Amino acid sequence: KEKTLGMIKPDALDRMGMILDMISHKGLLVTKAKMVLLSRAEAAQFYMEHQSKPFFNGLLDYVTSGPVVAMEIMGGNAIGVWREMIGPTNPSDARSQNSQSLRAKYGTDNTRNAVHGSDSKESATREAEFFFPSAGPS
Ligand code: ATP
Repeated sequence: KEKTLGMIKPDALDRMGMILDMISHKGLLVTKAKMVLLSRAEAAQFYMEHQSKPFFNGLLDYVTSGPVVAMEIMGGNAIGVWREMIGPTNPSDARSQNSQSLRAKYGTDNTRNAVHGSDSKESATREAEFFFPSAGPS
């Protein structure tokens, strides 16, 4: 079975129950979860591929504005299924494509888009290791 890393961002924390329900309805399993308030340095490490982007500082402000819930999600084609459930980066694109996606339902704008999902096996491994280091209790 494939694993991916999902994250409920601060603006969608109050939707956690509905998001977990949706994950199980899709036949995926949450195999690890944790709620954390990321420091700015931790958020910068998580999003290091975006460090030169103009939206980087705003992204760090946003993901450190409150706790996030990181989840290891497991199942057949978990990366693709979760990305499909999330929808496109921009919630207004999401709303015009499929009003049932998480970003369509709970996202606000390009930055405040409610959820994150790994985009490849490599990023899933890196991001899962970031939140659930194999050396520590996890
Ligand atoms: P992917 O690009 O792999 O589809 P994603 O949809 O999460 O993933 P990324 O491009 O990885 O989007 O960007 C990471 C996060 O940075 C986004 O989820 C969003 O919160 C923020 N972001 C992305 N693009 C912009 C933008 N143009 N303006 C403001 N914030 C952005």
